[in-house]
Amino acid sequence: TGATRIVITEFMDEPAVAQLANVFDTVYNPALVDDRPTLLAMLGNVDALIVRNRTKVDLALLAAAPKLRVVGRLGVGLDNIDVAACAARGIDVFPATGANAGAVAEYVIGTAMALLREAYTRSAETAAGAWPRAALSNGREIAGKTLGLIGFGGIGQLTARLAQALGVNVIAYDPMLASDAPIWHQSGVACRQLRVVLEQADIVSLHVPLTAETRNLIDAEALSKMKPDAVLINTSRGEIVDEAAVASALHAGKLGGAAIDVFAQEPLAAGNALANAPRVILTPHIAGVTTESNTRVSALIAQRVAAYLQQ
Ligand code: NAD
Repeated sequence: TGATRIVITEFMDEPAVAQLANVFDTVYNPALVDDRPTLLAMLGNVDALIVRNRTKVDLALLAAAPKLRVVGRLGVGLDNIDVAACAARGIDVFPATGANAGAVAEYVIGTAMALLREAYTRSAETAAGAWPRAALSNGREIAGKTLGLIGFGGIGQLTARLAQALGVNVIAYDPMLASDAPIWHQSGVACRQLRVVLEQADIVSLHVPLTAETRNLIDAEALSKMKPDAVLINTSRGEIVDEAAVASALHAGKLGGAAIDVFAQEPLAAGNALANAPRVILTPHIAGVTTESNTRVSALIAQRVAAYLQQ
């Protein structure tokens, strides 16, 4: 397999890269994601491509990679990959399904609890000698609250289990799952319509892929159905929420808080409405990225790509 070539365009755990490099002609260069001309120029004889969410595996890239047989995705969410075009060419696409779900689920619970207490907003004041105890005395507990999941796949289901352990009531909207599918009964999560989830949840968390149906799913109208003190958590994809509408709901006191990990444009453009909104936790697309998940995701993709190339 000496002539089998792999190009890795975004960061990957070093032991997993080394494992691939032992067997295959492997180029690991996380700068390639930002240098598309160089990337396209080196794909002529490449068998496998390993990417995260920023490398666009589109028709132009596929045309530059006539020998490509497999794409490994270090994460889940295939919106950066033209899956139909890959299928038409017989190129297999492997996401790291499940390997970063625990990281995302912990992010959701952690940010939900932080937003309900608002304590994180006063750390600098407390450090400076102020004592905003009265202002923070209205914090809320997560126990007894209702978590509304939009999308009840791998991450939604794991998030539900963590929340239930904390005494949270969980409801979910997922039109791809039949209302009598066994998972509802097994999980103890109630299957509800989108409107009901928005109206009843104290915490709304998004766990859907970006598709034509989910784009702009959480717009001003959807936000207006939510409780004025509810918190919104988006770890799915930025395009699923109307960022300006979220910012204005926060300013108007019609939304209790928001934790946003993904944005329509990453990094944020100057003047992004969320940047100046109150009661927000903004993070740079790291919900699924921890030391542990990096190791799991990279090992899984290295193993799957290697097995595919060696079969
Ligand atoms: P999954 O495929 O297991 O689950 C997605 C669920 O969404 C499925 O059950 C599906 O039926 C449902 N769904 C599809 N269309 C829907 C719609 N229109 N309305 C409601 N539900 C719908 O995926 P997952 O592993 O749970 O991941 C979900 C998404 O989270 C990924 O697609 C990715 O975009 C995002 N993600 C982000 C990070 C991060 O670091 N921020 C990490 C991992 C995943």
